[in-house]
Amino acid sequence: MQKVIIIGGGIGGLATACILAKKGYEVSLYEKNSNLGGRANIFEAEGFRFDMGPSWYLMPDVFENFFEFMGEKVEDHLDLIRLKPSYRIFFKDDNKIIDMFSDLERDIPVLEDLEPGAGDRLREYLDKARQQYEIAKDGFMYKNYDSIFDFINFRTMIEGSKLSVFSDMDAYVSKYFKNDLVKKILQYPLVFLGSSPYNTPALYSIMNHIDFNMGVFYPQGGMYTITEALVKIAKKNGVNLVSGNGVRQIIVENGKAVGVELESREIVNADIVVSNADMTHTELNLLPAQHRQYDEKYWDKKVLAPSALIMYLGVKGKVDSLVHHNLLFSQDWRKNFKQIFDDPMWPEDPSLYVCAPSKTDLNVAPAEDENLFVLVPIASGLEYTEEQLEAYADKVLTIMQEEMNIPDLQNRIIYKRLYSVKDFKQDYNAYQGTALGLAHTINQTAIFRPNNYSKKVKNLYYVGAGTNPGIGVPIQLISAEMVYKRIAKIKQDSPLRGEGNF
Ligand SMILES: Cc1cc2nc3c(=O)[nH]c(=O)nc-3n(C[C@H](O)[C@H](O)[C@H](O)COP(=O)(O)OP(=O)(O)OC[C@H]3O[C@@H](n4cnc5c(N)ncnc54)[C@H](O)[C@@H]3O)c2cc1C
Repeated sequence: MQKVIIIGGGIGGLATACILAKKGYEVSLYEKNSNLGGRANIFEAEGFRFDMGPSWYLMPDVFENFFEFMGEKVEDHLDLIRLKPSYRIFFKDDNKIIDMFSDLERDIPVLEDLEPGAGDRLREYLDKARQQYEIAKDGFMYKNYDSIFDFINFRTMIEGSKLSVFSDMDAYVSKYFKNDLVKKILQYPLVFLGSSPYNTPALYSIMNHIDFNMGVFYPQGGMYTITEALVKIAKKNGVNLVSGNGVRQIIVENGKAVGVELESREIVNADIVVSNADMTHTELNLLPAQHRQYDEKYWDKKVLAPSALIMYLGVKGKVDSLVHHNLLFSQDWRKNFKQIFDDPMWPEDPSLYVCAPSKTDLNVAPAEDENLFVLVPIASGLEYTEEQLEAYADKVLTIMQEEMNIPDLQNRIIYKRLYSVKDFKQDYNAYQGTALGLAHTINQTAIFRPNNYSKKVKNLYYVGAGTNPGIGVPIQLISAEMVYKRIAKIKQDSPLRGEGNF
């Protein structure tokens, strides 16, 4: 029985632990924080229960694949509700408010109203996005890349299907739609990938298929129930889960990973080490210089996904103008992305996202009160004092009052916690305090993204948002399957399925 150590108990680490333990490896997972879940974390304060990170349950098919692969059923672990509407958008431009339902019969008239003729073009656009999603799922998302030729083959396949997806997303969407608001609706899901429409290939228009065709779900009890489900499955399969004891260094002998030294100074031996900690932290802090694949200069050149200013708010009474997911789009889209990616500064006219899970879930706030999670994407690495952070948070609250029809918001706040760049660094060892990892630019996609194994240290592997396929909760379930395929030397591009694989 081979011994495996997993560094970090984020979704990717937990999912890898589940798979490897089920496959008969002896697995121990070490997490530095007292809670498992990584960025998919939780805290409670004054009667409110806050999901700290993810709030959108997307790609239900990927969850189903994973649970089926584990011999489990999603419905035995998660009580999913399909949200209606999926989300509400507030446009600053002209005080327009629209609801999107992930139901073309309801959504097309809304787009037609903004741009006559957009409905037919949306159907055509989404047909392509669906086709692209299917090709990607079977030949791209679950695939381990070994050489540039693998990617070229994929590119040829996509081009053969006449999907011109290597232009940037803004140019691609602009071929179909002229209206600024319609374009924003189609481009906003890139924020889930920590990317901007100006630096992301249109390959990721698959996000529109996910958004418009697949729907938006919420697991009752909150997103942390996903972490809890993985913990339960890991324990059932015998994983030794240790939290509150991080890894200080990976021990390498004769070019092979042979174990780790824990923060407690204990040495634990292993045949295989899988790191779910941010890859930059693993490479720069847990490995001696001679065993690193990449130096600091390499990471400096990478395009980081944004960090965020997050406000966890407990609000007295209900906020009637909001639904479960709410987006407020800035007027000057390009300038907003520029201030996040190119000229880092506090966005002057920010886009923001507000989640009100208490609209759906009675357990996350005292009865009659509202639980609000407010997120403003900002540049990673942004420096600030606590006073500046507070001042910017106040500005955001004023914007919410004025633009989202919550006139008395500031007076009704009974709990407030701010979370930003420094917290991501401290809590998760996140490089430059990025909330999400590496952005999905073309140069950071597939073979061009850091691979899930070390080319310098044998038996050292990576799982998580920093490697393939990338950012997002369901994506970590895929990342875990990919690292298992890598360890077990399984050459299969499509998802592994069912008990038969065990
Ligand atoms: C604010 C926010 C909102 C998001 N919204 C969504 C959403 O709505 N939907 C969605 O699908 N995704 C969303 N995401 C993205 C998603 O949450 C992440 O991509 C995913 O959870 C990352 O998982 P991971 O496996 O990469 O591990 P991480 O969550 O990055 O976990 C890595 C773990 O490693 C631990 N670690 C670090 N260093 C060490 C060490 N030396 N020793 C031991 N442990 C260590 C860390 O403490 C952490 O627990 C969001 C993320 C954030 C931050």
